Amino acid sequence: MTATLIDGKQISAECRKETAASAEQFVNETGVRPHLAAVLVGDDPASQVYVRNKELACERAGLQSTLHRLPAETTQQELLALVQTLNEDVSVHGILVQLPLPSHLNSTQILDAITPLKDVDAFHPENVGRLLQGRPRFLPCTPAGVMKMLEVSGTETAGRRVTIVGRSDIVGKPMAALLLQKGADATVTICHSRTAEIAEECRRAEILIAAVGIPEFVRGDWVRPGAVIIDVGINRVGDRLAGDVEFAAAAERAAAITPVPGGVGPMTIAMLLQNTLHAARLQHGFVS
Ligand code: NAD
Repeated sequence: MTATLIDGKQISAECRKETAASAEQFVNETGVRPHLAAVLVGDDPASQVYVRNKELACERAGLQSTLHRLPAETTQQELLALVQTLNEDVSVHGILVQLPLPSHLNSTQILDAITPLKDVDAFHPENVGRLLQGRPRFLPCTPAGVMKMLEVSGTETAGRRVTIVGRSDIVGKPMAALLLQKGADATVTICHSRTAEIAEECRRAEILIAAVGIPEFVRGDWVRPGAVIIDVGINRVGDRLAGDVEFAAAAERAAAITPVPGGVGPMTIAMLLQNTLHAARLQHGFVS
């Protein structure tokens, strides 16, 4: 392997340390501990692990976290009522509804019901709109984690060609919005399931970001020599996790690459903690 590894574990540990120090300062100034309320509906095993990891990360950074577990047969009205209670609870600063929700529930309506000031996942249309206008309130966690990795690894984005594979509302689209912002100034191409000549689009990229959800979808020979590769994918293949990039072959051509696991995944949680602290500051008038 010739590429440098961009170590998400190490970078996220630094971020969490900074958040912990700032959170302690906030507690000293206000007497209030930043508080994340997580909502988990049903017993999807992967969701249980994700929520548990978020709770643990909160505890370690000195943030309060509360988990609301609801049975799989919870109705839309019951879930909306819980969101409303959390919106009105002044001791709660951030609200996270773990996705996916059981199929009988309307996720869009639930996410829209979270008050934008507590929307630490940055999914609410108001927060998405603000991001697109270049005045974000919360940065979407996974794309913000990617931006941090690019910054820490010394990867310049201004004027560079970035290809994002995947156009989801959680990763692909907000990733493009962040890279287009003034200050990031990248030239962005987004590929999706209907893109023609996707390999060629990838080969043009100086920075290639894969968020497809298909193991090793991006082949090693799609990588431009010297490119920086960010693999957002987390796919279970038998008893191991695989990314969306054919890692070994890509690492022979790239200048730098993120591993899976230990890449973007830990960054997402670190950014969620930052957003929870930011939400507490917003609600206590420290920032507007
Ligand atoms: P998604 O299923 O919502 O979106 C996948 C996108 O890939 C779609 O926009 C689709 O157009 C595109 N796509 C699908 N098939 C394609 C094809 N054949 N050619 C080109 N494009 C194609 O997924 P998502 O929520 O964006 O997640 C993507 C991956 O990232 C998953 O593996 C997920 O587990 C992972 N993920 C990781 C983190 C993290 O913290 N690291 C966070 C969110 C998602």
